[in-house]
Amino acid sequence: MVKVSEADTRGEASVVGASSSLAGASAFPADIPSVPSAAGKRILLATARGYCAGVDRAVDAVEKALALYGAPVYVRKEIVHNKFVVETLTKRGAVFVKDTDEVPEGARVVFSAHGVAPHVYQEAAARNLQTIDATCPLVTKVHKQAVRFADEDYDILLIGHAGHEEVEGTQGEAPRHIQVVNGPEEVHAVTVRDPNKVVWISQTTLSVDETMKTVELLRQRFPALQDPPSDDICYATQNRQGAVKAMAPRCDVVIVVGSANSSNSVRLVEVALESGAGAAYRVDRAEEMHPEWVAAAKTVGLTSGASVPEILVRDVVATLGTWGFTQVEPVATATEDIRFSLPKNLRADLKAVGAHPDRPHKVRVRKDRS
Ligand code: SF4
Repeated sequence: MVKVSEADTRGEASVVGASSSLAGASAFPADIPSVPSAAGKRILLATARGYCAGVDRAVDAVEKALALYGAPVYVRKEIVHNKFVVETLTKRGAVFVKDTDEVPEGARVVFSAHGVAPHVYQEAAARNLQTIDATCPLVTKVHKQAVRFADEDYDILLIGHAGHEEVEGTQGEAPRHIQVVNGPEEVHAVTVRDPNKVVWISQTTLSVDETMKTVELLRQRFPALQDPPSDDICYATQNRQGAVKAMAPRCDVVIVVGSANSSNSVRLVEVALESGAGAAYRVDRAEEMHPEWVAAAKTVGLTSGASVPEILVRDVVATLGTWGFTQVEPVATATEDIRFSLPKNLRADLKAVGAHPDRPHKVRVRKDRS
């Protein structure tokens, strides 16, 4: 069985030229062995899966900050919602804190991929913290939408999970204009000032289908409800759900690798069950799987959330292999070719010491189907 080691946890889609360890992969890796199974037991491996561009950038930012400035580097909240990533970065010198007041005056702090409310930037500035903002650009896009609609005095209905860091950050942009709608069951309780001036936006990692159901119910109440100018549920969330939808009807069991606080990972379990999987389980690591889950299964689907390093998926493949699931088949529904540049001040500091940031400057998206 492939074991995760601190020294080598990089998958095949590594950041070019990077020296260290945590990485994900969305392609079907040629080096995952696939051996015909006499018992007909097979794994369907979803593509796309694992790291999205926002997570890749955020994890890379912490790694490069540690390499450039040395430990400790403070990180506000979990940089991404994955236990293994947080544990690994902690061992390397990252210090995860709940809020900026736990960071020593003048120290360096990284803001997580989920984004922060404006008051957090202000608090950091008041404490002279040196901030590296790893907010995913697709979350920033939602923040900008919120600010724009608030400036135009809309009532903004933010579909999302109350208490989730991303939702707190977006709501903080315009607290007097935004109310959070936590799914279809909360639609009846929504009140607005002017039903002709209402817009909805959403968290980036929701279930596409459930969000559309919520929008439909909101529109029944507010027929003039305006749509956001573009999808808020991000490409990575949509692609990972699309792959699960495609494979779930063929699966006796679907395994989702991802942490319990990872919204998009939890959604993948729900999507698998709604799409016809016999059963679906979420695990942080291979060691959490039980052989009885798959004892009667012929086909096991496997995917991972957007904050999951590829090595954790490989561990699951290896463990399933020891239980007879030696044949691995890809289920490809989308290809992804998107990479975000590192935060600007980190790029500048890397260049100043002659280290090339090793990332393209432009954002490129290629989306097939989901
Ligand atoms: S899941 Fe989507 S919005 Fe969230 S970090 Fe990844 S790409 Fe960005």
